[in-house]
Amino acid sequence: MGLFKSSDELLEKGLDLVEQKEFAKAQDAFEKSAEKAEKKGEKEVLVLSKALASIMALSGQGRTYQNLINAQQALAPLGEKDIKIGLKTIKASVLVTECAITAEELSVQGVPTTSDALVQRAGRLQSIGVKFQTQIGNEALFFPALFSNKNETGIQRSMRLFAESQENMAEATVWDDPKKAAEYYQNAVNYWKQAGDAAGESRGLSKVDQYSLSVKCWFCGREITGENVHFFPMNSEVTKLLAKTNSDSPLQSANGAGNYIFACRGCYSAISKKADEIAIGYHNIAMSRITDVQNNLQAQINDLRNALNNHRH
Ligand SMILES: [Zn+2]
Repeated sequence: MGLFKSSDELLEKGLDLVEQKEFAKAQDAFEKSAEKAEKKGEKEVLVLSKALASIMALSGQGRTYQNLINAQQALAPLGEKDIKIGLKTIKASVLVTECAITAEELSVQGVPTTSDALVQRAGRLQSIGVKFQTQIGNEALFFPALFSNKNETGIQRSMRLFAESQENMAEATVWDDPKKAAEYYQNAVNYWKQAGDAAGESRGLSKVDQYSLSVKCWFCGREITGENVHFFPMNSEVTKLLAKTNSDSPLQSANGAGNYIFACRGCYSAISKKADEIAIGYHNIAMSRITDVQNNLQAQINDLRNALNNHRH
C-alpha cells in the first residue's frame, strides 16, 4: 500500500511526522507529495507540499539565508491562507514575514574591526530590530517555537538586536571617547535586560565598568579613561608607603591591595615591546650556542667516521 499513496495521504503523513518532531522525515514526505501532485496536476496540493517541505528544510543546520529565501518564495503563493503545522495554525503571510526578516538578520555577518564597518553594522541591526518590533511585535516567533521549543516574541528578538547594535557603537567609539562608549554599553545592558538575557547583561555591565574607569598612569602620571583599551593593569608590588605618594590625586594609580599598578597604553606598550626585544635577544643567544654545540658534535662524528673508514681499508 505504501507504494501507491496519494499526494494527500503523503501530505497527511508529513503533518503527522511534524507533530512527532521528525522534521527530516516530514520533509521527505512533503517532497514526495509535491512530486505526485505535480504529476497529477493537483495545483493546490503541489503549492502546499512545496511550502511545507521548504519550512522543514529550516530545521537544525538548515537555518541558512538561502533556505529562508527559498521558504519565503515557496510560501508567498499561499497568501493569506491558514496552514496547519504541528500543533499550530498560522497564516502563510505571517511566515513569509518571519522568513524575510530572519534572512535579513542572517545576512549581517561577523563583527568587523574597523570603526566605519562597526557603525554600518550597528545601523543594519537597528533597522532589522525595528522590523521584528513592528511587523511581528508581541507574537511568538514561529520557527524557534517549532524547531527548538523556544518561546521568543518579535519584541524580544528586537531587544537582542538593539543590544548588539549598541555594543557595536561602543566598540566603534571607545578609541576616541571611552566615556561615550560606556554609555552605549549601558544602553545595551538595558536592552539585554528587556530581552531576558542575563549573560548579555553581566557582560555589558563589566564593559561599562571598564570603559568608564579613570586612573592615573603610575609611570607618566597621565590621567586616562578606558581600562584594557587606553590603560592596563600590570602586576607589581605597591607598599603602603608608595601608595601614599599618590594622595594628591583623586585617581588611583594602583589597586587597593597593591598587587598591580595602572599603566597608560603608551607606557604599557613601550615596556612590553622592550621586554619582547630583550627576550628575543636572549633567545637568539641561546639558539646560536645550541648551533655551536651541534656543529662541534657533528665535527667529532665526522672524525670518528673517517677514522673508522681508514681502519677498514
Ligand atoms: Zn603613562
